[in-house]
Amino acid sequence: MPPFLNPTSLLLTTTLMSILIQSPNSLPTTLLTHPISTHLRFDSLSLSAASSDFGGIVHSHPSAVFLPSSPSDIASLLRLSHFSPQPFTISARGLGHSTRGQAQASAGIVINMPSLDSSITVSTDGMFVDAGGERMWIDVLRETLRYGLTPKSWTDYLYLTLGGTLSNGGISGQAFLHGPQISNVHELDIITGKGEMVSCSESANPDLFFSVLGGLGQFGIITRARIALENAPKSVRWMRLMYTDFELFTKDQELLISIKAEGEGWRLNYVEGSLLMEHSLKSNWRSPFFSEKDLKRIKKLAYGNEGVIYCLEASFYYDFHHGRNFSRADKTQMDQDIEELLRKLRFVSGFAFGNDVTYMSFLNRVHDGELKLRAMGLWDVPHPWLNLLVSKSNIMDFYIGVLKGIMKTSKSMGPILVYPTKRSKWDERMSTAIPDEEVFYSIGILLSSEMNDLEHLENQNAEILKFSDQQGLNYKQYLPHYTSMEGWKKHFGKKWEGFVEMKSRYDPKAILSPGQKIFAHPV
Ligand code: FAD
Repeated sequence: MPPFLNPTSLLLTTTLMSILIQSPNSLPTTLLTHPISTHLRFDSLSLSAASSDFGGIVHSHPSAVFLPSSPSDIASLLRLSHFSPQPFTISARGLGHSTRGQAQASAGIVINMPSLDSSITVSTDGMFVDAGGERMWIDVLRETLRYGLTPKSWTDYLYLTLGGTLSNGGISGQAFLHGPQISNVHELDIITGKGEMVSCSESANPDLFFSVLGGLGQFGIITRARIALENAPKSVRWMRLMYTDFELFTKDQELLISIKAEGEGWRLNYVEGSLLMEHSLKSNWRSPFFSEKDLKRIKKLAYGNEGVIYCLEASFYYDFHHGRNFSRADKTQMDQDIEELLRKLRFVSGFAFGNDVTYMSFLNRVHDGELKLRAMGLWDVPHPWLNLLVSKSNIMDFYIGVLKGIMKTSKSMGPILVYPTKRSKWDERMSTAIPDEEVFYSIGILLSSEMNDLEHLENQNAEILKFSDQQGLNYKQYLPHYTSMEGWKKHFGKKWEGFVEMKSRYDPKAILSPGQKIFAHPV
């Protein structure tokens, strides 16, 4: 070994060399000589960016990265693969916020979706927005707010693409009211695995429409989505309430999501919750909320409760863009309504906190945390995240076995989210697998490996899944990851047969999103 190369840099150099050497060879000449080949990139920077993701755990090297300038470039690429005697795999990559290589394509082609850079068009009459699948939700929000309008359902973090979240679900604290993001789509433009460009909706090509929603990128590439809009609020009352008892915390969350919808009474617009661990209160990307003084009291409360308390988060939107002015009397009424609501809840007395913030800063709250973590060099660490949807009837079993059991001594950093949502707000025809109970919890164990503890966290995840299986909990993985066909079959349950049928209809050669590791090539 040359003296200047340590094992790590040798590994790096070898990897880069193998990327460079491998690249064009595995691709057919029909592609390399086609006019769209000018959109292919083989340089090591492009290839290594497409070989990694937010998870930082899986690294599969593609043969090339494709930078489309229009949907028809993508259609040509897909047709070239589909009709080739040796089809190559293709993965749409939004921004690579996946955690297990789902947007990667080993020895295939990764499409860098942001290259499309398409426009965002708002229809104030139709109350919808048309945006490219590569556009980020933050851009959609900025554009719709220019018209005083907004999409209804969100993710906690807005620097995700429409194509990426619609391939999964898109869940946040509004989902109990409006369903996930996939429940708020009117139309999609799709390029199937056969290279066909198809517009679809509930009434036109409904099988493709519903398969793609939550379809893990398996049936086609989303190049446009039409998303439902509503009147946007200017302001948000954002509240956090502290509990020392998990059961009371969840019962109160369930109470809040059961309050009747607008027209039938007063209700909240957003309900979430999380575990606040004494050790991770400082470096939590979700907490630019408390003053230093409050943080000290909260830490003390957690210290006296075995290091953990439960934070119920709820928001109420007010002062809307379209409608009458929000008067001082309206504000007084709102304060009274909120006071009355809080009186029904069982948080620790003196531990209710509220802030009035703009709608934009409320929705974009995680970005502040991101900037903080980036500055500390803690954003680009491995993220072995585990997301589960657990039925209400099993939430206490999960709490005792996992949160209080397996994870009791965990000192790892990162938020642990726990909040309920409603099955009736999902359309059964969509691909996403969810528990078959009306109320189920979204649980995000969003830990970062900041302390060389990746192996420990991976083992912990495996133990959590083993426990949930052995106890027969009614749960599904969200942003699922399985390595065997058996795992996927069990995950999709009675949706599996339909999922396979749609795959053989729209991507029979299993070209699309190979990083999900569902189908072998060809189906
Ligand atoms: P990518 O990771 O690039 O792609 C994800 C999958 O979708 C891949 O299989 C890819 O091939 C496919 N895909 C991408 N674009 C398209 C397209 N146009 N057409 C078809 N298939 C496509 N999720 C929630 O539901 N709620 C949250 O609150 C939430 N918060 C998050 C916070 C952070 C900090 C991060 C990193 C992720 C969060 N997520 C959340 C997860 C997020 O929804 C997924 O990572 C999702 O995949 C979006 O990321 P992306 O746009 O970068 O997609």
